[in-house]
Amino acid sequence: MATESPAQRSPSIPQDLHIHTTFSNGDGAILPEQTVAMVAAVGHAKVVGISDHLEFVYGRGFDTYRQEVRRHKLHVGVEVNGHDWIDDALGVDVEYYVYHCRDVAADYRGAERLLATGRPVIIAHPLVLETNLARVPDSCFIEINNRYVWRSDWRAGLGPWVGRFRFVIGSDAHQPHWLNQNVARMVAAALGVRETVLFDAWDR
Ligand SMILES: [Zn+2]
Ligand SMILES: [Zn+2]
Repeated sequence: MATESPAQRSPSIPQDLHIHTTFSNGDGAILPEQTVAMVAAVGHAKVVGISDHLEFVYGRGFDTYRQEVRRHKLHVGVEVNGHDWIDDALGVDVEYYVYHCRDVAADYRGAERLLATGRPVIIAHPLVLETNLARVPDSCFIEINNRYVWRSDWRAGLGPWVGRFRFVIGSDAHQPHWLNQNVARMVAAALGVRETVLFDAWDR
């Protein structure tokens, strides 16, 4: 028998710090509707941060990006594509880093340099980048990524590290309907992960 209930939109997800918007305008998965305003309006999580790709927001465009994210009372991050981008990453005013750490020595050194800022460093989708977590500094946060985690053997890849690292869960949303963490949360629960919430929710 069909039943009815009132539609509700209070966010049940504690945190999502891996989200892209139209500021990542060279990323083919981004749709024009994925604006900062759209992410803020959806309000799928209590703590929300935008982490557009540094290669699309560094330089003169960065202040516009930062102001737009702050105007919507969201946290300001950036996604850093490996060691080539560390110098630029150190020069932008962000609250946290989402970091592509491939299995090369320079990328692990890059993680150390980002950590030296005192800002949180989230190791993005380590399974698809083949990050060797044995070489990642303990104070990094490891991401369980909703876009990618189901493509890998996550029990073997993440399971052994549950006791060593702190974890965060990210959607890696590029489109409005990707603003969820359903698969990543299934994985986190199966692994017995306790997620770390890095920031206070903005009072919106
Ligand atoms: Zn990424
Ligand atoms: Zn991303």
